[in-house]
Amino acid sequence: MAKKQFAVIGMGRFGSSIATSLTNMGYEVLAIDSNEQRIQESINTVTHAVTADSTDEEALRSLGIRNFDVVVVAIGDDIQASILTTLILKDLGVKMTVVKAQNELHGKVLQKIGADKIVYPERDMGLRVAHHLISPNILDYIELSDDYSIIEVKAPEAMIGRSLKQLDIRAKFKCNVMAIKNNGVMNIAPYAEDLIRGEDVLVIVGKNSDLTNLEKAYS
Ligand code: ADP
Repeated sequence: MAKKQFAVIGMGRFGSSIATSLTNMGYEVLAIDSNEQRIQESINTVTHAVTADSTDEEALRSLGIRNFDVVVVAIGDDIQASILTTLILKDLGVKMTVVKAQNELHGKVLQKIGADKIVYPERDMGLRVAHHLISPNILDYIELSDDYSIIEVKAPEAMIGRSLKQLDIRAKFKCNVMAIKNNGVMNIAPYAEDLIRGEDVLVIVGKNSDLTNLEKAYS
């Protein structure tokens, strides 16, 4: 199977981080920016880099943009350019567009014009840092929907040596322990009798409010 090809429009901090990461993972990446200097800075870190204004339909067409499997729109402050670019990409038949939104309203417009995936990097990172501040045991936080999330949490002292049955997290907090990780070894669908050990990392799914109650109870 041919490797996926990516185009990233906007080589700011977010766009260049995505483009460089994909290139380092071995994918072909075309970087596009209207700012010549940004393109010069990207030339050695991505497969191809071109200076073009993404609100110019002809420019995108001549780059063969519709042949890319995924096009990321990582235009920062210029919301108008971000919306116009997304509209043109969908008009040109790009199947998968991933677009960075500056705020909820921007996100709503992007959804209406057919953006396939909308990401809020600043908001999501803020949320993660906030959770980490409430409970330093939280290693990662993945939002599944507005109401539900998955957290990865270092087993708190108070849990160590006790079984999932004894902890009774499902009944007490309405959250489910989906997996337990220990030094890279994954125990998926753990048994009620499984004991929590030091160094364990619990992967827990639940409603945001229930997860917060759990975090607070063990912090
Ligand atoms: P970040 O917040 O991720 O650092 P920036 O706002 O700094 O984002 O960067 C956005 C990038 O998008 C800039 O390099 C800018 O030149 C580029 N950009 C803005 N408008 C267009 C456009 N119409 N076509 C191509 N690139 C654009």
